[in-house]
Amino acid sequence: MARITFFETEEWERDYLKRQLKGHALQFIDGHLGVKSASKASTSDAVGIFIYSPIDAKILSKLPKCRLIATMSTGFDHIDLKACKKRGVAVCNVPSYGENTVAEHAFALILSISRKIPQSAERAKHGDFTLEGLRGFDLKGRTIGILGTGKIGRHVIRMAKGFEMNVVAYDAFPDKLEAKELGFTYASFNKLLERSDVISLHLPLIPSTKHIIGAKAFGKMKRGCVLINTARGALVDTHALLAALKDGTVSYAGLDVLEEECEIKEEKELLSAAFARTCDLKTVLENHLLLNHPRVIITPHNAFNSQEALERILDTTAQNISSFFGGRAINAV
Ligand code: NAD
Repeated sequence: MARITFFETEEWERDYLKRQLKGHALQFIDGHLGVKSASKASTSDAVGIFIYSPIDAKILSKLPKCRLIATMSTGFDHIDLKACKKRGVAVCNVPSYGENTVAEHAFALILSISRKIPQSAERAKHGDFTLEGLRGFDLKGRTIGILGTGKIGRHVIRMAKGFEMNVVAYDAFPDKLEAKELGFTYASFNKLLERSDVISLHLPLIPSTKHIIGAKAFGKMKRGCVLINTARGALVDTHALLAALKDGTVSYAGLDVLEEECEIKEEKELLSAAFARTCDLKTVLENHLLLNHPRVIITPHNAFNSQEALERILDTTAQNISSFFGGRAINAV
């Protein structure tokens, strides 16, 4: 039996972890792990944390018994790995939890646009059952361009194949074997833009991908293309998008992320009170030109937010802890 102290957890997560880690002695502390709160975990064999608990040599010195830091996040740059190694403290993370979840949201946006779901629902709610202006379009037979065939992009490809769409993809590191297995083809960036009826973004935001969809890219797109972004807002140049919506290059856009959002490392930050204190999305985005555009659907960076995805974070964390104390460390970083 190990003593484990969790920080930064919500009530429902505590109940969930208690069920998953029966046989261990669990303690839950409100707030993050810091110099002050560390004393509460001084006899713990392991601590569970999120990204608002920075771990350095000073904090570790206050956790003399600790042998494992289990971070309930994918990223681990809040942890000084060298200091942990020096003290013989292992670190493990949650490498993935929400790929299908984000892909499903991308498809929710595509279908909302192709079948005019928000407009239809709004009209029916007001007792108006007329169909004028609500005609949509089939996905079957259309071409979807996937930018980024990583974890999420591949799920979107599988779903698109289910709708009998043609799939063309672009990635800096194409996986030809995967393309054969899933039945899609790779093309150059420009060819993808030229061919696609729907373009869905699944790239990381790095200097080389910032504004990858800008005036030049819009200039190459098929007229009437649908743009979907569930990745990072700054992949798209907002001003160029507004111009492309105006001149008809883009017929509709479905966006879960916007350029002006505060920097987000880990989506689960969006659910935490600490994030809300530092970044008020409502204020930041209140006057955003895209928000009230009639051909743009915006969701509030909600693509990751399914019950199952959040439970997968806890499942992996519990497995990381059980395996470590069972003598076989997994997801070590
Ligand atoms: P991933 O790392 O598995 O895949 C990214 C792919 O992009 C890789 O195949 C990589 O080779 C490719 N790539 C990287 N740089 C490139 C470049 N310059 N040109 C072309 N291809 C390049 O990432 P993922 O887990 O699939 O995540 C994709 C995006 O979704 C990320 O931006 C992530 O932040 C975002 N995301 C959003 C949400 C949400 O709630 N909206 C949730 C999770 C992830």
